[in-house]
Amino acid sequence: MTTKLFRDARIHTPVSDKSRCVSWERGALLVKDGLIESVGREDDVLQGLHPSQIDQEIDLGGRCVVPGFVDPHTHMCFSELREREFALRLSGVSYLEILRSGGGILSSVRSVRSASEETILGRTLKNVHIALSLGTTTVEIKSGYGLDTASEIRMLRLIERLGRKTPVTVVPTFMGAHAVPSEFSDDPEGYVDLLVKEMIPAVSAECNPPFCDVFCEEGVFSVSQARRVLEAAREHGMKLKVHADEVTDTGGAALAAEMGAVSAEHLLAAREENLAKMVSAGVIAVLLPATAYSLRKPYADARKMLDLGLTVALATDCNPGSSFTQSVPFVFGLAVMKMGMTVDEALSGCTLNAARAIGVDKICGSLEKNKLADLIVLDGDTPAIMAYNCGVAPVLSVYKRGECVAKRPDDRGIN
Ligand SMILES: [Zn+2]
Repeated sequence: MTTKLFRDARIHTPVSDKSRCVSWERGALLVKDGLIESVGREDDVLQGLHPSQIDQEIDLGGRCVVPGFVDPHTHMCFSELREREFALRLSGVSYLEILRSGGGILSSVRSVRSASEETILGRTLKNVHIALSLGTTTVEIKSGYGLDTASEIRMLRLIERLGRKTPVTVVPTFMGAHAVPSEFSDDPEGYVDLLVKEMIPAVSAECNPPFCDVFCEEGVFSVSQARRVLEAAREHGMKLKVHADEVTDTGGAALAAEMGAVSAEHLLAAREENLAKMVSAGVIAVLLPATAYSLRKPYADARKMLDLGLTVALATDCNPGSSFTQSVPFVFGLAVMKMGMTVDEALSGCTLNAARAIGVDKICGSLEKNKLADLIVLDGDTPAIMAYNCGVAPVLSVYKRGECVAKRPDDRGIN
């Protein structure tokens, strides 16, 4: 058994039974075998503790410590970037136009289908390691660049393998309903039939992913098509997520509420009455401000959602098209500066609420007794440093299960 003491830390964390964060100016964390044994004021944590009981002491020199980030919505398993398409978008071609002309998601589908497993794994591992260096200790990764049964199963297996190759906890989501593949462009209902009758049963039997997600959007899957997919996924034991009302208000938020989904994502165009349905059904709003940034769109109205009573989580949406960033600190900064969220709301959005959105809040997302000692040391006094010191990531070091797994090169003076 290894016991570590993290001391002289300005600890700032959400807590499970309250809707606010707590902080300790001179705090400490006692970690036993990767789990938090106690956390709080340093004097309280040290009480009754003999120095011989501590194997390693880490003096954080008064720096801010927050929980490791949970990124609850990414498509970071892919094989090629789409930088040329980004240039097209900068010249004024819209995201949905690019998708309609066979680009966008469909170009990632072509490259993933033809790439070797090692190529996909190499690119995805790079994404995960960049995310880890920026504080992400748990990440959700969706399939959805395969879009046929064998390719989707291959993606989900690769995502599982990733989880064994990095210290980051990886949560897979099946997203065969990410787009209609080109071979079904004249028969989208035929693709929904394939999803419902073949792909979902096969994926469930072979990979058993905890979540199924659907892109419910004009020109992608209609509300009734998305409902069919979600019903089949639910029958096979998967929990549900919906990409809802990202570009147009098609009623995706209401569908998420009707189906009892765990979360609805994007919500840039969602109507207030449908957001209210999400509140009643307990659906978490996962907001993706880096996507609005990358698409030059207005940001989702987080303030209104919070005031309506929604639980709001934040994510990078890391993907090679509409949001190529692995950085939760960037997302945090956008949430505070552009979406009217307070520092505590944004921190909860990147940690505990994000953990709730992917069903891991019992083990991570906050610095509380018996949770994993997943934590980040920031180069500042408060989490606000991530919005203040913008454009760089003020993440000095990252601990997963109490072990240092990433460290900024200039991080001297601690340990
Ligand atoms: Zn997405």
